[in-house]
Amino acid sequence: MWHGKMVTALKKLGFDKVFDTNTGADFTIMEEASEFIERIQNGGILPMSTSCCPAWVKFLEMNYPELIPNLSTCKSPHQMFGAVIKSYYAKTVGIDPSKIYVVSVMPCIAKKFERTRDDMQGAGYDDVDCVITTRELARLIRQANIEFSELEECGFDSPMGEATGAGAIFGVTGGVMEAALRTAADFLGGESFGKIDYEEVRGRKGIKRAVVNVAGKDIRVAVVSGLANAREIAEEIKNGSADFDFVEIMACPGGCILGGGQPIKTSKTRIKNDVFGKRSKSIYTIDEKSTIRKSHENEYIKKVYEEFLNKPGSPEAHKLLHTSYVARNKYNI
Ligand code: SF4
Repeated sequence: MWHGKMVTALKKLGFDKVFDTNTGADFTIMEEASEFIERIQNGGILPMSTSCCPAWVKFLEMNYPELIPNLSTCKSPHQMFGAVIKSYYAKTVGIDPSKIYVVSVMPCIAKKFERTRDDMQGAGYDDVDCVITTRELARLIRQANIEFSELEECGFDSPMGEATGAGAIFGVTGGVMEAALRTAADFLGGESFGKIDYEEVRGRKGIKRAVVNVAGKDIRVAVVSGLANAREIAEEIKNGSADFDFVEIMACPGGCILGGGQPIKTSKTRIKNDVFGKRSKSIYTIDEKSTIRKSHENEYIKKVYEEFLNKPGSPEAHKLLHTSYVARNKYNI
């Protein structure tokens, strides 16, 4: 199992439960695909931008505050997941949410800031109490004298551990868009209507544009990674020349698989070792091998909506899973 040793290491470090953030990504897709459909059907503000990269969100708040209405109001996966853990999960297992301390392990330094943002207390408590990077986790494992390579593998804790292939591809540029299209197509065209693989949004190019047919409707999409490219796209939206309806933007070139919290490698080493190629291949392999590859087909997600959130975009879902933004300047960072 690809993640098994990491789960064992986290248990040895003292965590009581280890859940898969990819399940949080499935919640994000449920909400984001629904929000996009709502905007295209009811004349909402387009293009809609993804909001799961806190570095992009803050860049927009500081440099393009007039584009705040273009941002999806969805929280990122780990923030959504924290809110669900401290509400639905706490209730079902009978734990006082004030006694739960959620630590997110992320490939990202910006997530440390994100967890401190206003409007990130969906259940009345901080969604996430602490963020550590994957680099910091590796250090913790070494400091605790844990021999990682010799660890037994174990699975994520249930029932929160179930995640889909769609959740797994969030880490690579184009992955959020592809996961959202899988679900949007089925939401628009009926159960299991849409295809699974959207090759047109894959690959390492900094700006990708495509027209994809989603349940008989042509949707113009763009996928962007790297902040210089993000600025180019923001200028297009600002001056009205944007030729897309839905855009995924990630601040790190290549997406979170090359995030700032990952083990440090020079750009030269990354290129020489084809780090992007290897990590993206690994993520797409996880997706291909997953028995469920669409977020809305995740049984756990379905159960939480049935028992607790009602439906995507409901007032209950908004309270826990959505957030708000603020214009910032150099005095308000
Ligand atoms: S793209 Fe980079 S900054 Fe954005 S969420 Fe991923 S790791 Fe964080």
